Amino acid sequence: MQHHPRCLLCDQAPETIRHLLLACPFARQTWHSTFAWLCIPAPVPGHEAKLMDWWLRAKDATPLALCKALQSVALLNPWML
Ligand SMILES: [Zn+2]
Repeated sequence: MQHHPRCLLCDQAPETIRHLLLACPFARQTWHSTFAWLCIPAPVPGHEAKLMDWWLRAKDATPLALCKALQSVALLNPWML
């Protein structure tokens, strides 16, 4: 099975897990659109070294009433990407 060396979503960087989930412009737009649609005030992942770093920051920035929605997005967005 051949593996494309560059990200197929943006063709701007090597396809690493960090790029695909956190740094890819397509992924960042997906996070932003999902948060906007659900009115979740969490920051969009971007410059964190790991998804867990973003998760801890996002959890702190999200009101308790929206934490379950944030948890769902944090699991479903990476799966979709
Ligand atoms: Zn990309």
